[in-house]
Amino acid sequence: MTERDAFTELFGRPSDLGASAPGRVNLIGDHTDYNGGYVLPTALPQRTYVQLALRPDRRVRATSAQRPGIREYELGAERRSGEWIDYVQAITATLAATDRSLSGFDLYVDSDVPVGGGLSSSAALEVALLRGLRRAFSLTYDDDLLAALAHRAETEFVGAPVGIMDPLVCSKGDEGSALFVDTRSRVVERIALPPDLGLVVIDSGVAHDHATGDYRTRRAECDRAAALLGVPQLRDVEAGDPRIDELPEPLRRRARHVVHENLRVLAATTALTGGDLPALGRIFDASHRSLRDDFEVSVPAIDLLVELAHRHPAVLGARITGGGFGGAMIILTNRASTAAVALDVVAAYSAMAPHAPMIVLPWLHRPANRPMNLES
Ligand code: ADP
Ligand code: MG
Repeated sequence: MTERDAFTELFGRPSDLGASAPGRVNLIGDHTDYNGGYVLPTALPQRTYVQLALRPDRRVRATSAQRPGIREYELGAERRSGEWIDYVQAITATLAATDRSLSGFDLYVDSDVPVGGGLSSSAALEVALLRGLRRAFSLTYDDDLLAALAHRAETEFVGAPVGIMDPLVCSKGDEGSALFVDTRSRVVERIALPPDLGLVVIDSGVAHDHATGDYRTRRAECDRAAALLGVPQLRDVEAGDPRIDELPEPLRRRARHVVHENLRVLAATTALTGGDLPALGRIFDASHRSLRDDFEVSVPAIDLLVELAHRHPAVLGARITGGGFGGAMIILTNRASTAAVALDVVAAYSAMAPHAPMIVLPWLHRPANRPMNLES
């Protein structure tokens, strides 16, 4: 059944329009965004789809294939509930704050992006809904403004302290390119992925929760390191600055990671632009070592996946991706080898680790009834 059919079945009338937005994976640049630094993500083929029909009143009724049951509220009476509907309320409250008068609507959500898996299902939902509302109400937002609205909705209404990377790549990204993002200026540069580049993304099956202590501890450590160095953010520290080595541990290693990860994003961008995949692979490896040893956000399951990846002759590099403490890893290989690498690594991992891994890329299961590129 398509999303359109599901909408009709649930709400007893057809939808007016559909929209969608992709999930994302970060190629390199982890724990740099909240330090004002650089990131290099790309959009995934997995997307979140919304179907909408306008209502004559101010009621919003919403349901999701991933969260069955209808949730309802009145426009203007948005209140945080701790449930998924907060993401919808966040968008309508944020639009109201920009003086846009909406009417109510019925909403159906369905997604291929794993929810809560570090692949940005939250920003995919926000951007897909904003795209739907943009069309339904003829709003003149460009894709940058759309990302900024999604970011404001998630940080201010939902209350998640997320960076601008996720909404930017969900709004402006595509599968054929990476986006070099300067998270401070929000300048975005699109870099075409070389045709022979192959990416494998495997979720380790180890759940991570960024609301818990460790992620916040890392953020606080970066802020302390920046304060001791007398700069607003670690972005402002030069790589050769001798004062980094004078910081107390673990701040010295935390700062060293951030400063060098920013340089690695720049080097990776150069390697990608020049199609130098072996160089990109070496940068991936250095990033993993830094996240494992200096920033200490890897876990044994991810280190095992990285080690298993390196046993495959077609693998050029491998690293943890995302916030860490579990979650996913990314492997660089050539396009023709992606399926073989993914299946080999997952088979070896399943035999050794007690977790249930999931292959995110290459995407082996695109349903036939899904439109390939449902933009609006
Ligand atoms: P991530 O963005 O890494 O997937 P988050 O914790 O940032 O993880 O966002 C996940 C939350 O976003 C879910 O708990 C849910 O509230 C909401 N969400 C995302 N996608 C959907 C969906 N398809 N249906 C309902 N809620 C969703
Ligand atoms: Mg998210």
